[in-house]
Amino acid sequence: MTSTHETTVPTELDPASPFAAPSALPYGLPDFSAIREEHYEPAILAGMAAHRAEVEAIAANPEPATVENTLEALERSGQLLGRAARAYFNQLPSDSTPGLEDVQERLAPLFAAHQDAINMDARLHARAKALADAAAAGDLVLEPDTAYLLEKQLTRFKRSGIALSAGDQDTLRELNARITTLEASFGRKLLAGANEASVLVTDEAELAGLSADAKAGARAAAEARGQDGWLLEMQLFTHQNVLASLEDAATRERVQSASMARGAAGGENDTREVLLELARLRAHHAQLLGYEHHAAYIAADATAGTTTAVNEMLGRLAPAAVANARREAAELAKVSGSPAADGVAAADWSYLNEAVRKERFDLDDAALRPYLELERVLHDGVFQAAGLLFGLSFVERPDLPGYHPDVRVFEVFDAVEPGEPGTGLGLFLADFYTRESKRGGAWMDSLVVQSDLLGERPVVVNNLNIVKPPAGEPTLLVWDEVTTLFHEFGHALHGLLSDVRYPSQSGTSVPRDFVEYPSQVNEMWSWEPKILTSFALHHATGEPMPAQWVETMLASRVWGEGFSTTEYLAAALLDQAWHQLTPDQVPTSVDDVLPFEAAALAAAGVDFASVPPRYRSTYFNHIFGGGYSAGYYSYIWSEVLDADTVQWYAENGGLTRENGEAFRRKLLARGGSQDPLASFADLRGRAAEITPLLERRGLV
Ligand SMILES: [Zn+2]
Repeated sequence: MTSTHETTVPTELDPASPFAAPSALPYGLPDFSAIREEHYEPAILAGMAAHRAEVEAIAANPEPATVENTLEALERSGQLLGRAARAYFNQLPSDSTPGLEDVQERLAPLFAAHQDAINMDARLHARAKALADAAAAGDLVLEPDTAYLLEKQLTRFKRSGIALSAGDQDTLRELNARITTLEASFGRKLLAGANEASVLVTDEAELAGLSADAKAGARAAAEARGQDGWLLEMQLFTHQNVLASLEDAATRERVQSASMARGAAGGENDTREVLLELARLRAHHAQLLGYEHHAAYIAADATAGTTTAVNEMLGRLAPAAVANARREAAELAKVSGSPAADGVAAADWSYLNEAVRKERFDLDDAALRPYLELERVLHDGVFQAAGLLFGLSFVERPDLPGYHPDVRVFEVFDAVEPGEPGTGLGLFLADFYTRESKRGGAWMDSLVVQSDLLGERPVVVNNLNIVKPPAGEPTLLVWDEVTTLFHEFGHALHGLLSDVRYPSQSGTSVPRDFVEYPSQVNEMWSWEPKILTSFALHHATGEPMPAQWVETMLASRVWGEGFSTTEYLAAALLDQAWHQLTPDQVPTSVDDVLPFEAAALAAAGVDFASVPPRYRSTYFNHIFGGGYSAGYYSYIWSEVLDADTVQWYAENGGLTRENGEAFRRKLLARGGSQDPLASFADLRGRAAEITPLLERRGLV
């Protein structure tokens, strides 16, 4: 950050590096047959040097600023860095090695400094400002996407502290460094504390109900730590999965208590001091930049805009969710023989819930799986829906190499008429299987982003973690994996159908409280009868899935929403409560942390002891250890848009080419080239309404 104008000797890149020139493969697909682990770091370092030199030339240009020599020039800069970094950051989570992890550790601070150097460059800022002034004076007419690009660039300058005095800039730098250190420290304490909180069971009878697999896992976990017995390890969230099957109430209570005590048990792994300092420093950081508190700073750069909007949305949902959770509790209480809803202990909730669910919705995952075969779900489900909506078709290209033998490459064609080949739109890489070198979860990534300015078409990747069957056997899914496949493909479509000029506005380059929206919308097609009946066929016999099962699956979707919405909202409200404090409002004593939490939950009306927050403050890694501070509300914010869009489809005839075209042109194609909520309003004909979400979650 300090070396803005320092001249650096450019790092030369070996011309033989596979990153030295743009890839010659179709759509600029990186040539993975030539890329080795050792190619990434030198290419990224050379890319940073080249980018700095390009930016220096833009900043030092003696000509007055124009759109071409400033905004567009910035958009064109950093191409070597972009292609090397995108390939690297795609591979890191999906096929990592110790070597790639080391590179990450070395490069992380350099990336931060590299970005800061650009955002803190006063000469660039002056050029952007000159353009904005000329536009405001009517001397310069900007296209809407260019105006939006300029506005966002000026926001980045402002938020990096460019307008501050030198002294305040120093303070800001110190705050940033300290905040980064504290976040890392929170994460480390949490990890160590989770190990400490694991529950050791020495009497096998206390594990009654646990599956053989889970028991074997607990046995191995104990052995790995040189302990006798079974070790129940903690997952990040409050509600531990084993609670659904443990028959022994005392064991459940031990697990629940251990989970909820994390980070507040005193000793080395207590996180309270760290989180208090984080809350205070973030508030201070926000105020330096002219925002009331950290949550206002975060909301201003999201589609929410203000914390008032966030509070209103959470406030409307909370009472309905808690009322629904209380109704669910009353039903669970009947099963347990307990006298009242409040009598359902948090530790017993999911065990009782399983009993009710089995009785009401007798669905067996094992029986469903033969009807959910991956190839059918992909071709007759996901791809078919994209064909009917957007006119896309998909051709597998085994001749094009992925970064791992499991990766499959599909070429995507646009607007195909029967018998016509269509126009090549981009590439879709599918990396479905789990492996040791892949992190958990599912996600979408981009190897090439669409932009007219650079003449590039998109190359996107979907990663899932499906267990690979033995060779020659079909890949059979559970319903959750089907939904995940549709969800991630929704992100892929956002990248593939992008139709913008500037690379920084491409596809999924939208605020995080908007980015989950198109993917959530795409999940709806997994339930669409026309699609579902196409893919849900028995893999061996071709028989359709029994209609009764489909109905039961549909009916079971709303059950449990009271619990899950309440525990989610409680966490989102806690996140806001901590980050809507000014520096002097943050409690000073570690003894105040849990009382503050209790008061915040009570004030928001989500203090229902049977349903504790998904994360308590002391182990809320999303907000204190990672990058989701004041942003945990984003998931449900996106879902409001999603549910309203599902209703829009329903009002307009559902799965039709016409509806798909509108969703594509007005929303997906626009990416981040305009205010995303304006795209939404353009599609919907009005601003988003919350009622469809309340209905979907059974909250009305
Ligand atoms: Zn997603």
